[in-house]
Amino acid sequence: MNTDIEKIIVTENELAQITARLGKQITNDFAGKKLLIVGILKGSIYFLTDLSRHIELPCNIDFIQASSYGGNTVSSGEISIIKDIQSDLTGFDVLLVEDILDTGRTLKHIYDMLSERNPQSISIAALLDKPARREVKIHADYIGIDVPDAFVVGYGLDYNQFYRNLPYIGILKEEIYKK
Ligand code: 5GP
Repeated sequence: MNTDIEKIIVTENELAQITARLGKQITNDFAGKKLLIVGILKGSIYFLTDLSRHIELPCNIDFIQASSYGGNTVSSGEISIIKDIQSDLTGFDVLLVEDILDTGRTLKHIYDMLSERNPQSISIAALLDKPARREVKIHADYIGIDVPDAFVVGYGLDYNQFYRNLPYIGILKEEIYKK
């Protein structure tokens, strides 16, 4: 285990089980629909690549990037779009894929923005959920697993752009970001 990690909270094995379970549900729910998977960069990349391989349907994939924590462990609450999708959403059933649902502000901002572009529907898949931290009303249709209110990294999630490539999700030692 990486020595900056306090504790592993979602193992590689559990991540594989989560992506398989959600992929199966999504395959059932989106059968016959025109599926567009929209990954929210950068945190969702590992989740999206694993999840999408369990979705046994034709689909398009696009990406959007919102402002990040920028080297902080607390969100500024100000959301801005750094990179927009390239797809025309008309007629598409959109599946937004996010790493973690925290205050909910990022997903709400993106959901509201894409809703105005004439999609057939928009659903949300979030790998992790911190329900204790929610500040806005947003409903995720697919959730991998609830996590405690701690700063977590790995499997796409970063601190200051590091740790994304850890194959598990772990709680970062406080001494790393309180230095
Ligand atoms: P929200 O807008 O829901 O407050 O925050 C969503 C974004 O904040 C996530 O996409 C993620 O980038 C970041 N975030 C929230 N909690 C954590 C966390 O525990 N660890 C990391 N690495 N990022 C987090």
